Amino acid sequence: MYILYEVADRIATITLNRPDAANAQNAALLDELDTAWVRAGDDPDVSVIVLRAEGKHFSAGHDMTGGGGPVPDKITLDLIYTTESRRYLEYSMRWRNIPKPSIAAVQGRCIAGGLLLCWPCDLIIASEDAKFSDPVVMMGIGGVEYHGHTWELGPRKAKEILFTGRPVTAEEAEKTGMVNKVVPRDQLDTETRALAEQIAKMPPFGLRQAKRAVNQTLDIQGFYAAIQSVFDVHQTGHGNALSVGGWPVLMKLDEMKQNIK
Ligand code: ZN
Repeated sequence: MYILYEVADRIATITLNRPDAANAQNAALLDELDTAWVRAGDDPDVSVIVLRAEGKHFSAGHDMTGGGGPVPDKITLDLIYTTESRRYLEYSMRWRNIPKPSIAAVQGRCIAGGLLLCWPCDLIIASEDAKFSDPVVMMGIGGVEYHGHTWELGPRKAKEILFTGRPVTAEEAEKTGMVNKVVPRDQLDTETRALAEQIAKMPPFGLRQAKRAVNQTLDIQGFYAAIQSVFDVHQTGHGNALSVGGWPVLMKLDEMKQNIK
């Protein structure tokens, strides 16, 4: 079980539970996570959803080792597109649109695919040690599959972190509006819980409509269309890497591990 799930006081708590691998995301973890989100969305006894992570780090991103699953003989863009559109696009969009408020509690590193888990949440509380990064450009790809960067950070900061691969600190993320609040590491769970309890007292239909008002405004500004089209831009990066080296990214696994700081 990569995901823990519990409901108490109208709050569903979904926990990433692969701390020995810094909550790196394999297919099973993401499928379990999606099941948990849908369950919380469907449960009339749940008003607020909290997403948190066990261990030192929120998530090291996609599990580039393949998570122990079978590796196909030939990797095609068709295969990559099919897999990624389900797990890295449809999942994140579904979680973003669940009609209940959600809060991500982020500590430690949140790298690349980790952003696909916290960005879809309505609110983000970060601990002081949290660092958010997308070093995917060094693999020859223009950023992770779900392009929240420009929306979350503004165009200049988005370009800076993509061009350099450097992490954004919790404090910096709060300044751009990507993070709602920064708290000491030992208070992350209690502060998140307190906020969830406060929101859970509000009428569920009012919360649902407030969320829809903000998300619809973003969609009218182009959020939905931009996310869809940048996903395809991302796929051209995989296509180029496949054509150059026969592998979905330009960097080999060992090299990536050394370069991602
Ligand atoms: Zn990809």
